Amino acid sequence: MWHRERSTILAARRGATESSHRRRIWLLVVAGALVLACQGAPVGEPERAAVAPGQVLLVTGGTVVTFDPRGTVIAEGAVAVVEDRIAAVGPAPEIQASYPAAERIDARGGLILPGLINAHTHAPMVLFRGLVDDLELMEWLEEYIFPAEAEHVDEEFVRWGTRLACLEMLRGGITTFVDMYYFDDTIAEEAERCGMRAVVGETLIDFPAPDNKTWEEAIAYTRRFVERWRGHPRITPAVAPHSAYTVSAEHLVEAHRLAVELEVPLLIHLAEDRAEIERVLERTGRTSIDYLEELGILDDRLLAAHVVWPTASEIELLAARGVGVAHCPQSNMKVAAGVAPVPAMIEAGVAVGIGTDGAGSNNDLNLWEEVDTAAKLHKVTSGDPTVLDARQALAMATIEGARALGLEEQIGSLEVGKRADLIVVAADGFHQQPQRPEENPYSLLVYSTKASDVETVVIDGRVVVRDRRVLTLDEAEILARAADYRRALTMHEH
Ligand SMILES: [Zn+2]
Repeated sequence: MWHRERSTILAARRGATESSHRRRIWLLVVAGALVLACQGAPVGEPERAAVAPGQVLLVTGGTVVTFDPRGTVIAEGAVAVVEDRIAAVGPAPEIQASYPAAERIDARGGLILPGLINAHTHAPMVLFRGLVDDLELMEWLEEYIFPAEAEHVDEEFVRWGTRLACLEMLRGGITTFVDMYYFDDTIAEEAERCGMRAVVGETLIDFPAPDNKTWEEAIAYTRRFVERWRGHPRITPAVAPHSAYTVSAEHLVEAHRLAVELEVPLLIHLAEDRAEIERVLERTGRTSIDYLEELGILDDRLLAAHVVWPTASEIELLAARGVGVAHCPQSNMKVAAGVAPVPAMIEAGVAVGIGTDGAGSNNDLNLWEEVDTAAKLHKVTSGDPTVLDARQALAMATIEGARALGLEEQIGSLEVGKRADLIVVAADGFHQQPQRPEENPYSLLVYSTKASDVETVVIDGRVVVRDRRVLTLDEAEILARAADYRRALTMHEH
């Protein structure tokens, strides 16, 4: 069912090159699809496949940055995890006394915070990382990405790409990612295997995709996909129409209706650049967000990536309808799409998360850089250094990201009863000295800390990264397979 034949790929490529319009669509699809994936069998030290009944884990001694509603920070704090949930958060001596027999992870000198949420990516595209940069979009697409996809993108490509992406994301403290690509059943399988949490949506688009050749096939695939994964503790299946300009009004409405019927999120790229706004305006007489409102699609199940060009009234509309936004500052900068009015959206009450976008337009899946960039970018464009402070910027990668996904009851902060997704970040790097974590943790985390400072990652109570090593993925094998893909791509070029 997931096997994609070469003829399908070539047909998709021909379809995409038939007209300039289709080329533009493909460009956008490719630009949007830049994520990685995880790997299957656990390796290295023995690791429990699931959280054992009654298992208690104490992460203790670090500065706990909770992102709870009061913004609680606890110097020398601890988090107790029982099975897959957070059971207690508080001062280390108190928590240790309550759980004397627990397995301990020593976080002294560092910080304990909620796992990071990458609100928009295309994992498998990491295998295209750095293939070409700094080109006009069409040239990049037609000369490089289309031939590479036609030759290489199939289920195995998606599998190994997802494994590499998950390796990078886990190592950098990302515990949840939101993905839109193709062969999304495979992406969900790999996220499941490496222990990550993910919201995964098969991209729906009005022309042949690498896996599904028709709209009807893609809808049928999505329905099967959602039914397979619905109810999974870590995988949230979603419906993902690509955008307002690559999917017809009728199909956008159908995709939304399917999401409502199946009770899952709806993912879309929205108001990403001026060309999109002009194209939608020309076709419908409305700007992108207004147009989706007319179609009845704006609601709290929608997570919209980018939202660089909303009007003032559209920002109010997004807030009123409860639409979540995934801000992707580095991707927007790299393709010169513009600067999203994030401070205005936050001011209006919109839940704004933050994402890396795919590795083709970024080129990494480093959410720490996105947070740092966001905190600075909006100062530049507003001329006001107070406009998005370090705490607000990091909130986009934690609790506000969870709100944007509609998962704020489950993840995004360290609070009793929530899923145990947390990370330990070291604070002893030269680049962090001589700041002490408890003094101003937000400044330390946003302006000085790097992804490589993440030491430990726990997802659903399971330790998946320990001492900066990913326990659930075979790093050597993934790197070797990725190198094979790059050799094949290079051969194709010459
Ligand atoms: Zn995208």
